Amino acid sequence: MRIIVCVKPVPDPKHWNRLQLDPKTRTLVRKGIPGTINPLDRHALEAALTLREQEGGEVLVVSMAPEDSQPVLKEALAMGADRAVLLSDRVFAGSDTLGTAYVLSVGIERLGEFDLILCGDETIDGGTAQVSAQLAEFLGTPNVMHVSGLEVSPGKPWLARSQIEHGYTLVEIEPPMVLSVVKTINTPRYVTLMNILEAEQKPIEVWSANDVTLSEPWAGLAGSPTQMADLFAPERKGMAEMITGDPKEQAAKLADRLHRLGFC
Ligand SMILES: Cc1cc2nc3c(=O)[nH]c(=O)nc-3n(C[C@H](O)[C@H](O)[C@H](O)COP(=O)(O)OP(=O)(O)OC[C@H]3O[C@@H](n4cnc5c(N)ncnc54)[C@H](O)[C@@H]3O)c2cc1C
Repeated sequence: MRIIVCVKPVPDPKHWNRLQLDPKTRTLVRKGIPGTINPLDRHALEAALTLREQEGGEVLVVSMAPEDSQPVLKEALAMGADRAVLLSDRVFAGSDTLGTAYVLSVGIERLGEFDLILCGDETIDGGTAQVSAQLAEFLGTPNVMHVSGLEVSPGKPWLARSQIEHGYTLVEIEPPMVLSVVKTINTPRYVTLMNILEAEQKPIEVWSANDVTLSEPWAGLAGSPTQMADLFAPERKGMAEMITGDPKEQAAKLADRLHRLGFC
């Protein structure tokens, strides 16, 4: 079985207090913020690795991101992926969701035939939840989202459980297709020191715009039909006041303040 997992490097949430918005370009200033695998993409990769263990085959990871995202792909290789491809070029920078899906699709076309493409349902930075469906459209395959379970057995129809508001639907699927997963599908494995050392032996292939066939204009900021109209941090409205004194005094002051505010 040949499975391709789309992995997006996102700013590590542990450092989000350092994230800034550039008011001119209306983009996130990611410089100096370490990246990590988008959390749901970890679940997508775990699902792929489990299928490979069950059915044999190969797991490839593909990402469109700046070149300095290579440590994130190393993490994916350490988890167990066989091969990683980073689509990285100035031409791709600033792509909207259509551009992202398009660039991923031409990269995947170069990778050749596949049985499944696994994505996360959404990312923790852009968070549009559009890329997997757009990717399926570009590749001309069906797409199932919100996948919380996968059953693949030889000689039987493949089944995908897709979460809906108060339950799930069970969908018979036929490869090749694109699935996007939710976090209840599995628990991603831990990466051991040995895995990290092994990943050092696995190369990351970096492909530029010259390595793929871009027959449509939808790549990068210039080729993106949608542009961010505005982006701003919400105004801070709340104020905190520290109540001083020993616990008894603090309690009395708090009760008085609440009383004056009409709460009791
Ligand atoms: C500050 C800011 C401004 C933005 N402005 C715009 C805008 O004007 N117009 C617009 O359309 N979008 C805009 N975006 C969204 C941006 O284009 C997205 O980050 C990008 O297109 C991917 O979309 P997403 O993160 O919403 O992915 P989702 O659709 O939420 O991701 C679903 C899944 O697709 C896969 N995936 C997504 N991106 C990648 C990738 N790069 N490499 C590999 N796999 C991937 C992953 O498996 C992921 O879990 C902006 C984002 C930010 C943070």
